[in-house]
Amino acid sequence: MSQDTSPPQSPLVPALLDLEDTIQFDCRPGISCFNACCKQADITLAPYDIIRLKQRLGMSSTEFLKKHTVPFEMDASGMPGVKLRTTDEEPVCLLMTDEGCSVYTDRPSACRYYPVGLMAMRPSDAPSEEHHYCLVEESHCKGHQEPRKLTVAQYREEQGVEEYDALNRDWYQIILKKRSAGPAVGKPSPTSFQFFFLCSYDVDRFREFTRTESFRNTYALGDEDYAGFEDDVTLLQFGYRLMKQVLFGEDSIPLREGALEERIEKRREIIEARRKMEAELHRQKEDPYQNSCDG
Ligand code: SF4
Repeated sequence: MSQDTSPPQSPLVPALLDLEDTIQFDCRPGISCFNACCKQADITLAPYDIIRLKQRLGMSSTEFLKKHTVPFEMDASGMPGVKLRTTDEEPVCLLMTDEGCSVYTDRPSACRYYPVGLMAMRPSDAPSEEHHYCLVEESHCKGHQEPRKLTVAQYREEQGVEEYDALNRDWYQIILKKRSAGPAVGKPSPTSFQFFFLCSYDVDRFREFTRTESFRNTYALGDEDYAGFEDDVTLLQFGYRLMKQVLFGEDSIPLREGALEERIEKRREIIEARRKMEAELHRQKEDPYQNSCDG
């Protein structure tokens, strides 16, 4: 019996597209496969997707993440990502109903783009990243057989992705930059990933963080800034600035006078306390007799 050893067929059409390139595609009720893609959902969420969905569903970002997403690692370094949760048995999106998408006007950007894929890349000699597009042709999707032709730019406009791209752009830049720093700066620490997760996905918990004493003692922000943080999008954009400052040293948020020195002093105290504790543990291990006599 012969075995098929050929690699699985990729649904990715091997051609890079630009905004003015034409695609042939349509998706609407009446097409035989309508909603089939939502039954095979693999939707990675970007920060602005989460804001739109948590507002639409009337819940906090923390509740939304718990109820509607699953965590995954976006790359080999373990960069945290989140995907839309599906049913346990099959990859059916929980937001799909018999009538179609229950959050259609607030659907994530990956759903809007499909079957077009956005590819952001930064050539080593380029000052900023370049955007290209590609086409995904999956066997379940009959939309490619529809006669409608339009450019990638027209498709983007029709699907309303421009607002999403504008509000996720800085985040994609942060990911690219974190990746390109790569092995040169070693594996990112768990704390830096937690910080990335908080600023990227959990806007309501991030708001709580900006209300803490340690945050307010560190950054020189005014009442107006804090009032602006009540708005999810304003806070998300501040989070991008904070990530760039903390992760890459791109300073745009003023620090309180003496805050840096205070933090260094506190850190020094913690390190000293930890060193003393370790020395004591080591002494107890080396001299168990002394230890038991002391006890
Ligand atoms: S969010 Fe809506 S469009 Fe996206 S996979 Fe779910 S049901 Fe489909």
